[in-house]
Amino acid sequence: MKIGIVGCAGRMGQMLLKTILATDGAEIGGGSEHGRSEYLDKDLSVLMGASEPLGLKITADARALFEACDVVIDFTVPMATVNHAGLAAETGTALVIGTTGMDKEQIAVVDAAAQKTVIMRAGNMSVGINLLMGLVEQISGILDNSFDIEIVEMHHHHKVDAPSGTALMLGEAAASGRGVDLDSVSDRGRDGITGARTAGDIGFASLRGGDVVGEHTVIFAGEGERIEITHKAASRALFANGAVRAAQWCVDQPPGHYDMKDVLGLK
Ligand code: NAD
Repeated sequence: MKIGIVGCAGRMGQMLLKTILATDGAEIGGGSEHGRSEYLDKDLSVLMGASEPLGLKITADARALFEACDVVIDFTVPMATVNHAGLAAETGTALVIGTTGMDKEQIAVVDAAAQKTVIMRAGNMSVGINLLMGLVEQISGILDNSFDIEIVEMHHHHKVDAPSGTALMLGEAAASGRGVDLDSVSDRGRDGITGARTAGDIGFASLRGGDVVGEHTVIFAGEGERIEITHKAASRALFANGAVRAAQWCVDQPPGHYDMKDVLGLK
């Protein structure tokens, strides 16, 4: 099975290349970057510190990559992901999306591609986070509004979007457990004289610094007691493992929109 990597020179892109090489039954189908990348036309091996060339040149021609592969994995930026979803629909190639920070219009365009091909999208590909989401939904359904829900995340200083895609997914899980719409209770970016906290709100706080791969804590703060559930990612490898597992799962599915719970059989 040939897996292509768009954004192959990125932090996740490079980790994905190494993961595919180490995965039985998976083969690197090629890698793409944007048209101004310093890596264009270089052999993919330069991104893996390998001494032997792979015989695959890094390309700006994403369409050719989609045509040459059974499935493509995308950890890039929202604008690029929207374009890649269009190529997936046109070529019928399955697409696994890890990119975060997409707005509602961009998500709608990506979702529309699922009418033509397999689109698997998850703001977090780790098994642990997906289990955590199930727990958060369950706890939120049991505790009433006397427990304030706050979601705290920390990531490395290169991250460009906030709150993280994972924090928003945890917020969706908490809102779903309470039977409310996240948009109507979400409290983001407190600063200055904010007034007292509104009961039932779900608060978000984002910390940025150093090389932190990804940490998320969901806090249920009540009178006299507090429940905190934390997930800490120690390496990008766990996201890459999840994405490659998803890619292998995707090729056997009919066109449609899927997430990590489908891949892990948690639905
Ligand atoms: P990064 O900046 O290191 O990598 C992004 C890569 O995409 C870069 O190499 C960039 O040149 C490339 N790119 C940009 N535009 C492109 C285009 N048009 N065509 C091809 N390539 C293009 O970022 P990263 O840390 O690897 O993260 C990438 C995304 O994945 C972010 O949105 C991040 O939040 C997300 N992420 C998701 C998960 C998850 O489990 N879902 C885990 C980690 C990161």
